Amino acid sequence: MASAKNLQAIRGMNDLLPADAARWAGFEALIRDVLTGYGYREIRTPIVEATELFCRSIGEVTDIVEKEMYTFADRNGDSLTLRPEGTASCVRACIEHGLLHNQQQRLWYAGPMFRHERPQKGRYRQFHQIGAEAFGMDGPDIDAEMICMTARFWQRLGLADVRLQLNSLGTPACRSAYRDKLVAHLRSGYELLDEDARRRLDSNPLRILDTKNPAMRELVDAAPVLADHLDDESARHFERLRALLDAAGVGYELNPRLVRGLDYYTKTVFEWVTDRLGAQGTVCAGGRYDGLVEQLGGRPVPGVGFAMGIERLLGLLEGRDDIAAATQPQVYVVMAGEAAEAAGLVLAERLRDALPQLRLQLNAGGGQIKNQMKRADKSGADWALVLGEQEAAQACVGLKSLRTDAAQETLAQGGIAAALAARLGL
Ligand code: ATP
Ligand code: MG
Repeated sequence: MASAKNLQAIRGMNDLLPADAARWAGFEALIRDVLTGYGYREIRTPIVEATELFCRSIGEVTDIVEKEMYTFADRNGDSLTLRPEGTASCVRACIEHGLLHNQQQRLWYAGPMFRHERPQKGRYRQFHQIGAEAFGMDGPDIDAEMICMTARFWQRLGLADVRLQLNSLGTPACRSAYRDKLVAHLRSGYELLDEDARRRLDSNPLRILDTKNPAMRELVDAAPVLADHLDDESARHFERLRALLDAAGVGYELNPRLVRGLDYYTKTVFEWVTDRLGAQGTVCAGGRYDGLVEQLGGRPVPGVGFAMGIERLLGLLEGRDDIAAATQPQVYVVMAGEAAEAAGLVLAERLRDALPQLRLQLNAGGGQIKNQMKRADKSGADWALVLGEQEAAQACVGLKSLRTDAAQETLAQGGIAAALAARLGL
């Protein structure tokens, strides 16, 4: 048997401890609030899917499918995969449940994703995303609205240092014409290409534009630009999107090298980036994927979506206690002796009946009053309720501020709910 000291979390998969969980919860609540405000509704799908789903949607020749998926054989031999992203599952569920027939959908999801990458700051093997997808709308208006919504996330979070990068990948047809020119250009510098790039030259040359290899930078920078090869419809879509963003006052940079790591994108692609996180600077990324539903077996339905990396955003929000959800108790109940413990339990239950929002922690495990008061202080509560033998016998209770020098008051137990409600604004 392995010794206990070997029992650790899997590399690249992190525990979220209570000290940080409150900030996560506050972050998630705020994002959910904005999503709901734009008419998005939550969808939850399983974490495990048939491997084929991701091969068919993300694309065989992508980093994710080639080398990052957690794929395993189920006991009956089926090939299953821990989801590396959320869009494929969302589309699968929508097709399966008929959510896309002659209707529009605005959906969001949140949860863990799994990719076998090299763990480093901002890059983990289990990480978390919140994403949104909109189906059944093919115009640039929904692209613009969705980007405005992401801008609002940062505004509500008080994040000023994220920038929007924008590009258009056009339709598959104009991409394939462009692709030939790109391949010709890259072949002219074949000796500069790394192993990955050489392999992708035939299978997925656009991904080479996305390279992080500095040795290939110059060659890639000199490559023809996709934006110059857009068909009329894609060009109009892109122009209109930019006009809408201008009208809404959402600034952006055009980045012709922005191609995104997944195969299914068409037309609009965008990323929100920051310089504050080192190499892992993309906090939110998305785009339009008009062919994906059909590719996964549904009738053709246009789609657009994005996903944000929660760990990276929380990295930007380090030390920001103002966004943390309130989780500390407001009131701590201290009790001396058995009779007081019984009275305290009953009083606590009555208070929870009267004030459902109240966060109250009841001392457990006994201890001297002095030690219980230390626990009360450490709990973060602002108020202690003190039940000594005498208070218990007289059906009253001491109310003591833990954060000021104010003297302890004695109140009738029947009046304590009103007193707390007034002091805590409940
Ligand atoms: P990157 O270029 O950083 O690898 P990506 O293009 O693979 O990102 P997407 O698949 O678009 O990322 O996922 C959307 C967002 O999820 C990213 O912008 C990032 O914030 C986050 N993300 C992606 N992979 C990871 C990871 N391994 N660890 C933490 N966050 C991640
Ligand atoms: Mg990646």
